[in-house]
Amino acid sequence: MVAVFAGSVGQQLAHTQISNRRRMVESVADRPSCDTKLLMHSVEDAASAVASRIAKLATENVPLRDAHGRFTAVDVTAPRSVPSFDNSAMDGYAVRWADLPGTFQVVATVGAGQIMTVPVPPRAVVRILTGAPMPAELDTVVIQEDAEVEGDHVKLPEEKQGENTRKVGEDIMEGEIAVAAGSRLGPGELGLLASLGVSEVPCVRAPRVAIIATGDELVDVSTPLGPSQIVDSSAHMLPAMIRELGGIPTYVGIAKDDPITMAALIASALDHDCVITTGGVSVGDRDHVRAALASAGVELELWKVAMKPGKPFSFGMNGRVPLFGLPGNPVSAFVAFELFVRPALLTMQGATKTQRPRAPVSLVRGYRKSVGRTHFIRARVERHGEHLVAHPHPKQGSAILSSLVGTNALVELPAEASEISPNSHMQAILLEAM
Ligand code: AMP
Ligand code: MG
Repeated sequence: MVAVFAGSVGQQLAHTQISNRRRMVESVADRPSCDTKLLMHSVEDAASAVASRIAKLATENVPLRDAHGRFTAVDVTAPRSVPSFDNSAMDGYAVRWADLPGTFQVVATVGAGQIMTVPVPPRAVVRILTGAPMPAELDTVVIQEDAEVEGDHVKLPEEKQGENTRKVGEDIMEGEIAVAAGSRLGPGELGLLASLGVSEVPCVRAPRVAIIATGDELVDVSTPLGPSQIVDSSAHMLPAMIRELGGIPTYVGIAKDDPITMAALIASALDHDCVITTGGVSVGDRDHVRAALASAGVELELWKVAMKPGKPFSFGMNGRVPLFGLPGNPVSAFVAFELFVRPALLTMQGATKTQRPRAPVSLVRGYRKSVGRTHFIRARVERHGEHLVAHPHPKQGSAILSSLVGTNALVELPAEASEISPNSHMQAILLEAM
């Protein structure tokens, strides 16, 4: 389809438009013919179309020190019990419970890392420190605050049997599942696995994600700006989003708005597990990504989603490599990444949980929208007792990066809704725990 420009423009502009139209016709000729699967999709259909094509990556053993943020490929079972010996949970006196209460001779002191090598005589006790192994004959610890020391003797009150001790396997028993398959290894999981002596974990490979920006106007953040240039801000936003999910971003660079260079850059990135492009997917006469994708052997499956922001989202495959064409506007790119790329990168890593939590929120202001597209409102959600209240950012434009600062939710205005009154209850995608 060739765009037709409205009438009253100067001669000069008309010439430019005609040559632009020619260029567009040329590039359209290279494009795949119109395909029904490339009609505008609902958000749900687009998400399931993407999900149906994404496969889990291979497994590799990762040293524990490098495993933070990685996903387990199998159930990791405890190779031993923790604790591996009964020990004292407090500083105090280890005693035979049956002997309590009474006054006892203190025959030894045992600290963490030490061990009693001689038997404890009847009616004797041992001064014991936190973490020290319980002498075999003793079963209870009386804390030192409850003890009265009299020379080399100590007076101890009643205590519950086994009190202030930690038993073998009390944390985890040999053979129990320590971390289930598809879990993200956070500080707690890493601590537990280390305590079990697991020095290597079978993890799913971290997806290597190539990012290609497109646009003649884009420059690197440290380049002084020319009069019509802008910074490729997505070059910093998207890698951060990928890293937060455990992926490894590679910023390939900025492709000029010409389909040949774009196709070459895309083709050069196909050795990654996933490729993301930004921009060039609208219907402007500089939007060459579709043609470039076709020349790079990418079969398009989606082209446009009924959402705002983020309508010009595209998705295709080159063999096993998924390719996400994110819109150029950074907020659109952010939202489309959240909805489609994030679950895909998690699925690639075998994550059990691939979706953000959702919750109903009360939206403090009303909206009027046209029917047909799902809107995702950037908002700050706060908890008020039982309820979540969403304060939308006042500026909702798709180029308004400042709307992403402090945003912790995307409030969904349904496609079929047209009038949303203030304090309506809407579903929100929560970007942080509430
Ligand atoms: P496009 O989809 O290429 O027409 O881009 C839509 C808008 O987003 C234009 O104003 C572009 O200048 C802007 N844009 C495209 N790519 C980026 C990027 N990587 N970083 C920031 N803005 C971008
Ligand atoms: Mg562009």
